[in-house]
Amino acid sequence: MDLTSLRSHNDRTVLRLVRSGALSRASIAEQAGLTPQAVSKIVARLIAAGLLEETGAVRDGGRGKPRMALRLAPGGAFAYGAYVDRDELRVVRLGLTGEVVSASVVPLAPMFTPEDVLTALEASVEPGERVLGLGIGIAGPLDFRDGVVSPHGLPGWSAVPLRARAEQRLGLPVVVDKDTNAAVLAEAWRRPLEDAAVVFVGTGLGVGLLLGGELHRGARSGAGEFGHTTIQLDGPLCVCGRRGCVEAVHAAATGVEAARVLATAVANLVQLLDLDQIVLSGREVLRSPELYLRAMPDVAVSVTSYGSDLVPIGAGLLVLGELF
Ligand SMILES: [Zn+2]
Repeated sequence: MDLTSLRSHNDRTVLRLVRSGALSRASIAEQAGLTPQAVSKIVARLIAAGLLEETGAVRDGGRGKPRMALRLAPGGAFAYGAYVDRDELRVVRLGLTGEVVSASVVPLAPMFTPEDVLTALEASVEPGERVLGLGIGIAGPLDFRDGVVSPHGLPGWSAVPLRARAEQRLGLPVVVDKDTNAAVLAEAWRRPLEDAAVVFVGTGLGVGLLLGGELHRGARSGAGEFGHTTIQLDGPLCVCGRRGCVEAVHAAATGVEAARVLATAVANLVQLLDLDQIVLSGREVLRSPELYLRAMPDVAVSVTSYGSDLVPIGAGLLVLGELF
């Protein structure tokens, strides 16, 4: 069955409710404001498509007659997520509930080309009828709408039509977004977040923004270029060509001083956007989380629970999320 035919609004509503714990057809009908007949039809279609399965009879709320419980079918659909970092390619395969089924890391040689990345993707991604597509997270700037990327820190990558080339090479639908947007999507998948920033400190530095519960990409997909806001006039030269960017000043510092640079920039961001949650992530933070946590301003701050696969998981959720 063609999974792309199952993306109607009501299908997505039912899948979302089952994912958030609605057990029976009756409770789905009640929460979705649909008739029991309509829900029965949708559920039958989703079971036939392999996305839902029945798990046996339960008593909803402990009362009334037993009702057949539903859950997302593991193996019903898969999505791939990839992170093109400045020195490696990380790829994960996600199951329907967002769980990681398999993961791989391939080193990328200095000055790697788009062709090198496509070749590595081809080796890591296995298309199949249950594979919905591939999400790719990569540094900005890029245009989310057409998937054309010109990432900072990747020499020779200018106006690369990454989405079109990956779709052609892999024969799968592909979506391309900033690594930091993928990161914030992954965090919001696990818990409710309203006004939050995921601060990503890896080979580059940036934030993913969630404002009013929605991912904020900005007018030209450029939101979150936090690493390239100026923190020190006449500071060190940055990969973006300017001086004194947060990314460059942070990279020139070490230990407590580096954490203080980041904390100062994060405090500015919190002031600007009135954020109430900050999630720290990326390999530099994961290397010494306590150091960064201690330096942060007075808001709710945590370290990502995803570890090193935060961006590829979020990129896969860009694709998988369309089902919900
Ligand atoms: Zn910069």
